[in-house]
Amino acid sequence: MKTTVFTGPQKLEIHDVARPELLPSQVLVKTRAVGLCTLEQRFYKGSSPDSYPFLGGHEVAGEVVEVGSRAVTRARVGDVVCLALLTRCGTCYYCRRGMDNLCIHNMESRIGEQTPGPAGLSEYVAAEDYQVYTTDLPPTYDADWECRLCELALAEPVACVIRSAQTPPLHFGDLVVVQGAGIMGLLHAQLLKQRGVRIVMAEPDLRRQEMALQAGADWVVDPLHKNLSDFVRERSDGYGANAVFFTAGGAPAIEQALQGMAKGAWLCLYGSVHPKGPIQIDPNLIHYNEWVVTGSFSHTNSSFQQAVALIASRKVDTGMFVSERVAFPQVDYAFERAISPDTYRVVMTF
Ligand SMILES: [Zn+2]
Ligand SMILES: [Zn+2]
Repeated sequence: MKTTVFTGPQKLEIHDVARPELLPSQVLVKTRAVGLCTLEQRFYKGSSPDSYPFLGGHEVAGEVVEVGSRAVTRARVGDVVCLALLTRCGTCYYCRRGMDNLCIHNMESRIGEQTPGPAGLSEYVAAEDYQVYTTDLPPTYDADWECRLCELALAEPVACVIRSAQTPPLHFGDLVVVQGAGIMGLLHAQLLKQRGVRIVMAEPDLRRQEMALQAGADWVVDPLHKNLSDFVRERSDGYGANAVFFTAGGAPAIEQALQGMAKGAWLCLYGSVHPKGPIQIDPNLIHYNEWVVTGSFSHTNSSFQQAVALIASRKVDTGMFVSERVAFPQVDYAFERAISPDTYRVVMTF
């Protein structure tokens, strides 16, 4: 079978390797769709501090072709499944505290592999049973089926955003701010809409502003040309937002958000900040206003299960993020498209 190896910045090689031999606890999946996420894009661009070689591809949907004799799973041959390929050890301090998103073994080599990485950009993947999430999508093999597989491949980003969007204790009618209308910001809008809140999205780019409205935002503000906190206060009788979800915009955006928060509000730092640097915050504001400042990183086994249920039942529309589908093994072209600012997600099809 063919697999993709990241050997250096802008260096992708297709290697012919043996199909993985299945361990009793594993499920062999024929890969059908793989989303090219920021993690893989970082390795492609060379902006990652991690080393090469690397086996990328962690947003995977496919079809079960074999189930190991001792695999504990509902999956049967022919089932369409989503794979959560970032490893979870189940035994570290964090896994045992129910915080498996922070598992200290989340980037380990796959069993039987020397090279690190989730290795989803391959024709077949031998996944551990706990990494397999079943769907009830019937095997029609038509154009609609292929679209659904691309949608299901994006279960991982949905699972990450679920943790962020469901954490603050929001009430119907509350006002929330989402900063950035990239795929993560738009997923926040889709999920928060279902919590009955009013959503202000902060996004300077015109095309992304339109996507924000499609995803469920009530208002879109260009934070570079309009005062976001004034806008938020005007729509909340002067009180401010009940929650802010930061997905993009760097440290200045976070400082701007702090000026428009109501008492008791939550600030959720979903996105990371590059280049890294401090933000200015008066600790008395946190004290007197009882603000909660928190972060959200990756997904848990639990949020992954929720994500698959939401996509399969079309309560979340990930199809709107599939900007382009590229057939394997055209990986160079696919990554050039994936890192281009005019795409949301490029999905590699097999
Ligand atoms: Zn991802
Ligand atoms: Zn662990």
